[in-house]
Amino acid sequence: MSKRDYYKILGVSKDADQIEIKKAYRKLAIKYHPDKNPDNKEAEEKFKEASEAYEVLSDQQKRQKFDQFGHAGMQGGFDYHQYSDMNMGDIFSQFQDIFGDLFGGGSGFRRQSKKTGPTPQHGHDLAQALNISLKEAYLGCKKEIRIYRYEKCDTCHGSGSEPGTKPTACDKCHGTGQVQYRQSIFSFSQPCPKCHGQGFKIEKPCKTCKGQSRIQKYEKLNINIPAGIYDRAELRVSGKGDAGIFGGGAGDLYVTINVKQDDKFYRQGDDLVTKLHLSYPQLVLGAQIEINNIDDKKITVKVPKGCPVRKDIIITGKGFARLNGYGTGNLVIIPQCNIPKKLNTETKAALLNYAEKLGDQDKPNNGGITGFFKKFLG
Ligand SMILES: [Zn+2]
Ligand SMILES: [Zn+2]
Repeated sequence: MSKRDYYKILGVSKDADQIEIKKAYRKLAIKYHPDKNPDNKEAEEKFKEASEAYEVLSDQQKRQKFDQFGHAGMQGGFDYHQYSDMNMGDIFSQFQDIFGDLFGGGSGFRRQSKKTGPTPQHGHDLAQALNISLKEAYLGCKKEIRIYRYEKCDTCHGSGSEPGTKPTACDKCHGTGQVQYRQSIFSFSQPCPKCHGQGFKIEKPCKTCKGQSRIQKYEKLNINIPAGIYDRAELRVSGKGDAGIFGGGAGDLYVTINVKQDDKFYRQGDDLVTKLHLSYPQLVLGAQIEINNIDDKKITVKVPKGCPVRKDIIITGKGFARLNGYGTGNLVIIPQCNIPKKLNTETKAALLNYAEKLGDQDKPNNGGITGFFKKFLG
């Protein structure tokens, strides 16, 4: 639906000053006020429309933006309210000070805008940590968690009143939640002491929730953890925070994933990394080694001839699934050389023989490998 010009809605000219704008809004607010037009949808829409126009035109910055760009300037990133989506109670609380100012501090008009029931409030978000193994992060998993959260009361369906009964307006503040005090020329208002500023009284509180509209209890939830989830990732479970008060929307649950360290594997980016211990002959001659991947599936690793220690052997596509859904990382194998601590006579002789045969071919240090072996093995 196309929106009307805010100046036209309030019936003022483009160069109207703040006093004119306030007057115009006041006139419309009285005319279309819901208490004067019960169950009149059209009047309610007009009231909302005027309130929105007033919010924009009464604010220097917002008005400037509207003058410059029209309604297009009011969208996206701009802090203003979509009045068509708001309920009347929200609009009154939005303009609480203005209504007070316009209509003389709680007299007449204010009393008409009394509340006859509780204002729904949105529930809090909740947070919980969840530990999983690196293997679970690799494969994805389902985890059951227990959370202590408020749930909407089933008996009263979140109203707080015994089924079939309704809250009544507080008789001390007449539903406004505020009590006016006068001291010489000053008048000020304070939250009503009888209803604690709520403006209503629940005559017959629901027995199940004692009028609280919700109940705190443990709930078991199954959390789906996608393959490839990383440490410290936060999963949002929509609507599983605390239930709202008096029928307000529920908050969300945020689950922070802690990935425990693994003995054999670790993660680097989307790659899964592990060390592979090989003997010196295996590194020199090359080998085919079967290893267990983190998911316990067998993988054959081809060690190339003359494989340097710590030169990565890459097995593509066997790393972590990318959370954006595009491909997977790699399995990175870091070859290590096993140095035997003890050698029996036979092996020692063979190794010395080998060193001697190798002779001048390989001279990593002064004196060559032969000298090296002699010094430590002889
Ligand atoms: Zn209840
Ligand atoms: Zn009260």
